[in-house]
Amino acid sequence: MKFIDAHIHLCDPEYSEIIEKIIEDAKNNNVIALVSNSMDYKTSLKSLELAKKYNGLVFAALGVHPWGIETLPQNEIEATIELISNLNQEDRKYVVAIGEIGLDITYTKKKGVKELQYEVFNKMLKLAEKLSLPVIIHSRGTSQEVAEVLTSYNLKKVLFHWFSRPISLLSKLIERGYYITEGPPVLYSKGIRENVKKVPIEHLLTETDGPVRFSGPFKGRLTTPAFIPLVVEEIAKLKKMNVEDAACQILKNFENFFGIKIS
Ligand SMILES: [Zn+2]
Repeated sequence: MKFIDAHIHLCDPEYSEIIEKIIEDAKNNNVIALVSNSMDYKTSLKSLELAKKYNGLVFAALGVHPWGIETLPQNEIEATIELISNLNQEDRKYVVAIGEIGLDITYTKKKGVKELQYEVFNKMLKLAEKLSLPVIIHSRGTSQEVAEVLTSYNLKKVLFHWFSRPISLLSKLIERGYYITEGPPVLYSKGIRENVKKVPIEHLLTETDGPVRFSGPFKGRLTTPAFIPLVVEEIAKLKKMNVEDAACQILKNFENFFGIKIS
């Protein structure tokens, strides 16, 4: 069986000293593709570097995350847009999406941050539209707003990473052809388990969002791609499928979504 991790932060400082171990963990567990999601300019450069270094295993998603957007140096957003717009033909091959981008007002009540997040999110979506790249979306507490913003764009490949709620929005997203990713919470979160039951398997991808830490059977453990087989096993149970079929379909979804052939 082969597995995929469509959303991991390989450039996170928590992984910097152990990146070789993380890559080995992926290989040892038959995780054959990882999408390194970025947070800002620096991590976008780093994701690109990792995709080159681990060619064929790591793929890069470049962009600016909504968290801490107000603390970024003034020219950073423009620098990231320029980086992505001006990728040469060679570098472009390693970039499979714009991400992680989105909206999140959970952690800040500061004035002007919401407006700034909308502004940057719109810039990122415009860029994805221009370059015909898929988008990987962070929508914590904002999935309705994100779904609304997306109606202004002609984007076919949209991935709601760690989609949580409201479950009532799910059918609308699927109707539009969007995908969702779920990860380790599949084993212990009631809401996430309900999402997995509801989403057609053809629109589902797997992720770790590492190094984010998890609860349930993962409590106290370093998050690595080694968690993915357990996630797929649980998805298969919830979908009443055999695990080989589930793994195979998720791999196919990955290829369809990112437009690359890995198997
Ligand atoms: Zn993430």
